[in-house]
Amino acid sequence: MFKPYKIKVVEPVRLLSRAERERKLQEADYNVFRLRAEDIYIDLLTDSGTGAMSHAQWGALMQGDESYAGARSFYRLEKAVKDIFGFRYFMPTHQGRAAEHILFSTLVKPGDLVPNNMHFDTTRANVLAAGGEPIDLVIEDAYDPTKEHPFKGNMDVDALEALIRKHGRERIPLIMLTITNNSGGGQPVSLKNIRAVSEIARAYRIPFFLDACRFAENCFFIKEREPGFSQKKPIEIAREIFALADGMTFSAKKDAIANIGGLLAMNDEDLYWRCVQKLILFEGFPTYGGLAGRDLEAIAIGLYEALDEEYLRDRIGQTRYMGERLKAEKIPIIEPIGGHAVYIDALRFLPHIPQKELPAQALVIALYREGGVRAVEIGSTMFAKRDEKTGQEIYPRLELVRLAIPRRVYTQEHLDHVVETLKQIRDQRDTIRGVKLIFGEGPLRHFIARFVPL
Ligand SMILES: *Cc1c(COP(=O)(O)O)cnc(C)c1O
Repeated sequence: MFKPYKIKVVEPVRLLSRAERERKLQEADYNVFRLRAEDIYIDLLTDSGTGAMSHAQWGALMQGDESYAGARSFYRLEKAVKDIFGFRYFMPTHQGRAAEHILFSTLVKPGDLVPNNMHFDTTRANVLAAGGEPIDLVIEDAYDPTKEHPFKGNMDVDALEALIRKHGRERIPLIMLTITNNSGGGQPVSLKNIRAVSEIARAYRIPFFLDACRFAENCFFIKEREPGFSQKKPIEIAREIFALADGMTFSAKKDAIANIGGLLAMNDEDLYWRCVQKLILFEGFPTYGGLAGRDLEAIAIGLYEALDEEYLRDRIGQTRYMGERLKAEKIPIIEPIGGHAVYIDALRFLPHIPQKELPAQALVIALYREGGVRAVEIGSTMFAKRDEKTGQEIYPRLELVRLAIPRRVYTQEHLDHVVETLKQIRDQRDTIRGVKLIFGEGPLRHFIARFVPL
């Protein structure tokens, strides 16, 4: 595989002994969010803000203009945002969720419905906080973990139109589409589907916003899989996508390869000024929006680097490499392999552990114990709910372990270590026991939960 970068700065990592890892697990109450990062060998908890910046980005930090108003760095970022996304107005924010908060608290009223292919967790929470109801309308195939589909993130456009007809456009303040669909396994949305959603939005005069966190990865999948796009550059595909929308929310911690930052953009001037009021209150003056000038510089450069075709081939290639190797080792994963992460199906991998004993969490613990690898549970700790009437626990349809790959951080040897660790777990999987949750409640309990092994 061609590697479009080499290493200039290194950060030491260490692999503790198995006995030390066991002790660290105990001290963390078997919740890997409670581990110290320096005790981890390979950290696949998230790809958000964990990427390695380039020498160009590090060099630009020195050129950050830290003026409160009218900083040069803002105008550099504006040039990049206009060039790539094309929206008439935009504002920086400190993260993607801040952009969501400003947008939804401005547009969404109690009782409103917000359709999306699939809401990311902070997006869902921000719709709810504004009194709205988030509605996921991804195609049915997205829920089948073995079904092959080139664009498993697509919106079910018939369901979207039916929703609008049923409730009326007045109750739907905006339509969103998440590219790529993070909650659904990093699956892309086709340009054809984006166009179809855009046409419906325009026909009913409803604003259409993209949750564009992984837009560059989505562009690469379109180039690779959608007829008619193989000769286009990712940036050309991006321009085609954003011309179909009225605005976007964006986390610069993803496809701007920065460690912090976000963007909110739109074409509607009236909406812009309403959002600016909130921006000043919660984030800061419109030319910095909660960020340092140097962060704006890093984002302006990172946006172009994330659209570089060689970079994208390497990035998605790493995810695919690890996924293919796991598949060859008969370790059950969600298919097709998405852009930023590989998801292991814990129900198939550890069939002897019932869902009430949290098999995905048990696998997360085993990954750290056996190989010093940190992953994240996307299963019952995160999503199980108690039925208020019957008192019965309702378990999610999927019990997954996500291995998210930070951008430009790990080598193939690191990824091989993850595969070797999983092979080792596979060979002794009958000995792996479930866990019991002894602390933590509510929808964000996974961050603070404590467990005991059974
Ligand atoms: C990460 C993410 C967000 C939120 O961005 P933050 O910068 O973490 O606040 C929103 N939507 C999607 C699809 C994401 O992946």
